[in-house]
Amino acid sequence: MSLKDWFYKRKKTAEVANSGLCADAPGQKLSDAEFGQLWAQCFQCSATLPRKEFEANQAVCPQCDYHARIGARERLSQWVGQDGDGWIEMNANLLTADPLTFTDTKPYATRITEARKSSGLNEAIITGIATTQAGFCPLPGALDTDSSSQYTPSETYALGIMDFGYMGGSMGSVVGEKITRLTEAAIALSLPLVLVSASGGARMQEGTLSLMQMVKTGSALAQLHEAGQLFISVLTEPTFGGVTASYGMLGDIILAEQGARIGFAGRRVIEQTIRQKLPADFQTADYLLRYGQVDRVVHRHNLRSELLSFLRLHRIAQGQTPKAITQQDVKPFEQPYLSRQPLGGTKKTTQSLSPARV
Ligand SMILES: [Zn+2]
Repeated sequence: MSLKDWFYKRKKTAEVANSGLCADAPGQKLSDAEFGQLWAQCFQCSATLPRKEFEANQAVCPQCDYHARIGARERLSQWVGQDGDGWIEMNANLLTADPLTFTDTKPYATRITEARKSSGLNEAIITGIATTQAGFCPLPGALDTDSSSQYTPSETYALGIMDFGYMGGSMGSVVGEKITRLTEAAIALSLPLVLVSASGGARMQEGTLSLMQMVKTGSALAQLHEAGQLFISVLTEPTFGGVTASYGMLGDIILAEQGARIGFAGRRVIEQTIRQKLPADFQTADYLLRYGQVDRVVHRHNLRSELLSFLRLHRIAQGQTPKAITQQDVKPFEQPYLSRQPLGGTKKTTQSLSPARV
């Protein structure tokens, strides 16, 4: 008997009664949606886990340590806290235009509408200024031990988190623009930058406009580097294509979340091209670490504390004290630009994609 059938035959439990599911009809078969609200299944070992416990464990399987994919909002809540505490979101209402009026199996505009509805996001990335609260945090020399902890003050940094659930986390003109503006805000506010990538690559529906974002984000990051600010790139499952080929691999420190697959082209495409069989662990985080492409592979449970350690060390090295950023410090923008004013130039960029507002 499957667990679902067993659950069907059971009398309603207190949890089901409290949640309101089947409250009026004990014994009535749960719908798939209702079942999914109560239980989660591990993609790797197929273990069926109580959803509340699974989420409390940061969506890491307690049995096989598989790191399930999580959305941008969920990761934000794991790092910064619930209810937007310590988080000032920027450019939240930027929406992509459809400059090519592109249609594949369905129009690009339709895809955007569906992605917004299913993900609850306006684009494949959220950006803003994050402040992690003061607390205990291990020093980098003791990153792998929980015993040697030290109290740290709060850290403020510019943070961007991609969401694979929005059109495969693809990088279109708005994703590139939001990252560029976030980088510029980090320069203006003298803050370090953290970008969390989860992407299939450039968004093909925007053609060369999406490829231009590789150059634009890279140029902004070069300016951040010249300003002496730290950029930490965090690569999560999966990070591929134009994101790997641009800001994903430009970090001063590159961290990979445990279990992430990272590459440019997919495994099958490479095998067909070079006509060779690739190793089983090809494009895994551990594989990239072995060949020097990433600096550390970090378990999801330790990611926040390791980030804090690096941010704190950088701040101390720069002789800076913790900053408090308010909404007034963050300038609002509403239009993504096709191109940017060159360094030292005087002419303002005026050509825009004329996006709609929410
Ligand atoms: Zn598992």
